[in-house]
Amino acid sequence: MRSAKLVEPKKIVIYDNEPEPKPGVGQVAVRVKAVGICGTDIHVWHGERPDVSLPRVMGHEFSGVVEADSGKFKKGEKVVVDPVVSCGTCVSCKRGYPNLCSTVKCLGVQVEGAFCDLIVVPEEKVYRFPESLSFVQASMIEPYSIASEVMFRGGPVEGEKALVFGAGPIGLGILEGLKLRGLSVMVTDLVDSRLTKARELGADAVVNGKTENLAQAVNAFTEDFGLDFTVDAVGNPKIMESAIDMAAPGGRVVVLGFNPMPAQVPELSLVRKELKVMATRMNCNRFPEVLGWFEEKKVHPDAVLSAVYPLEDVNKAFEHIAQNPDNTLKVVVTL
Ligand SMILES: [Zn+2]
Ligand SMILES: [Zn+2]
Repeated sequence: MRSAKLVEPKKIVIYDNEPEPKPGVGQVAVRVKAVGICGTDIHVWHGERPDVSLPRVMGHEFSGVVEADSGKFKKGEKVVVDPVVSCGTCVSCKRGYPNLCSTVKCLGVQVEGAFCDLIVVPEEKVYRFPESLSFVQASMIEPYSIASEVMFRGGPVEGEKALVFGAGPIGLGILEGLKLRGLSVMVTDLVDSRLTKARELGADAVVNGKTENLAQAVNAFTEDFGLDFTVDAVGNPKIMESAIDMAAPGGRVVVLGFNPMPAQVPELSLVRKELKVMATRMNCNRFPEVLGWFEEKKVHPDAVLSAVYPLEDVNKAFEHIAQNPDNTLKVVVTL
């Protein structure tokens, strides 16, 4: 089978004669059909993730076809795979939080992923999807699971005023999730074309943080009350600081970036407004909810799709994003 490995930063080599993995008990072999490229993959591709050793087969946003009958699945069924790798036996796993497993990993990041013809995964991480969805669309279920996790953790309430920092694929997915919950949503980014996309996807207000005064815009948007719900989909300590500044009494702030730099947050700011600051990591069994969103056409994955490349051009697919970071949303590779 073919397997595309990152052998050094910015260099992926496709090997043609890799041995096909064989499923064991409780596992399924999936013939991969489409793999999305995530911001995480771009960081790995640039060699910016010290927790990733090379060579590495990247890819954690993928769809495919069941290769052979297994306990739960039949050959030929179309499936997506939750990429959270968990042990199933530690305290967090037993409590129902596989994304907080003591040895948690993500397919395609700390272990081999989906830029290959065949991948073997645990049955309980596999979900069927209907004929009405294409493989490319289904590959975008994983990024929307990040948005679903933000809803699950943050508990946004109908009628609240929200702000999303960042209008990339994750931020736009969060926007769609918040609109489904009935919030008024403002989106801020530094790139106008992304803000146009946010408008298309239902943003009630957009602000270019480079050319407009965000704090003033938030005051107008919330009639000086502040933001009930803020999500940092960029991952910057300065954003967390300003999110806390602009929060309403009883507001919630959700962060999901991997930035190691500290934010400066006085305890008083949190206490005065009784704020909740929380984080989300990957997703905690959110695939069923997102499958519902996709099946009922409640979200618009096609709107965030920028380009599709065949596996042979996987290097071009990564270069496409690296060369047009402002004007590229989701790029998907097909096999
Ligand atoms: Zn991702
Ligand atoms: Zn565990």
